Amino acid sequence: MKIYGPVPSWRLGNSLGVDLVDAPPGYSKACPFNCLYCHLGHKGTRMSEPVQVDLPTKDFDNLFAKIDETKPDYITFSGQGEPTLNLNLGQAAKRIKEMCNIPIAVLTNACFAPRKDVRAGLDMCDVVIAKIDAPTQDLFEKINQPAKGIRLADIIGGIKSINTKVCIQTLVFSCANTTNADDDTIGALMDVYRDINKSRPIEVLLGTVTRPSDDENLRPVDSKKLSGIAERISEECGIKARYFSEKEQKKVNRNISQDKLAAEMTDLLLRRPCTREEIISRFDGSDPAVVLDKLIGRGVLGLKVLDKKDYYVVL
Ligand code: SF4
Repeated sequence: MKIYGPVPSWRLGNSLGVDLVDAPPGYSKACPFNCLYCHLGHKGTRMSEPVQVDLPTKDFDNLFAKIDETKPDYITFSGQGEPTLNLNLGQAAKRIKEMCNIPIAVLTNACFAPRKDVRAGLDMCDVVIAKIDAPTQDLFEKINQPAKGIRLADIIGGIKSINTKVCIQTLVFSCANTTNADDDTIGALMDVYRDINKSRPIEVLLGTVTRPSDDENLRPVDSKKLSGIAERISEECGIKARYFSEKEQKKVNRNISQDKLAAEMTDLLLRRPCTREEIISRFDGSDPAVVLDKLIGRGVLGLKVLDKKDYYVVL
């Protein structure tokens, strides 16, 4: 179990990341998907079945120390590994709940939501943020590039059976000839939202590409378009829809050594490319600019560009 952040999240505020599944050495992620826009890159391993990965007590001790120090708004299961690949997800959520009352979110692609044992783990969290980017199997395969045999219809069925709060997250974007931002696709996605909402109430979270990946053809949609789509969903489906907008970074005050800062910065950027301002806001009071420049000088960190903005990544 790896702890990183808190990261600045437009959905969850200061969100302390908990990564329950390691990417194998030489790989950038462990995920049954390979989304076109994935900010972890496309060198992933396709673990296709959840397994029980041990969660040592010392990892929880470290987590509680960091919660105490950083006082996050949310604790979020996310990172280099799809959280539902670890069948101990529910046990992790239970232990966290026994120790503090900070809400727990899980960011998931929901491909294992059809499994009852996986849903039992998801149900232990306060909110499940489940990814649906496409209304049809064909577009799902183009955008999310799932491992063989994963069916969108099964994912939708699984999400309908989750028994805790569910937000459906859709990332609206284009990449060369592939897009889900056109009116017809949005209309068909709205049918999917309506269908799920009939079984259980949902909220829709509309994001766009805000982190660089390794495909230069990726294009975000602008905030006017996102707000227009959100309005359409609210008006035509009667479902609350929120959309990504730039927010001022809420600073996290830290007082840690430069060595610890370098290790934490690397752990964060391995899982989430960040702008300079975002990084500095995470380590307020610990001279992060000096450590950042040292890591760049040593070739540990480098830059990727999206929409004329520089993001730091681990090389
Ligand atoms: S589900 Fe998430 S981690 Fe997996 S490929 Fe898609 S964006 Fe990357």
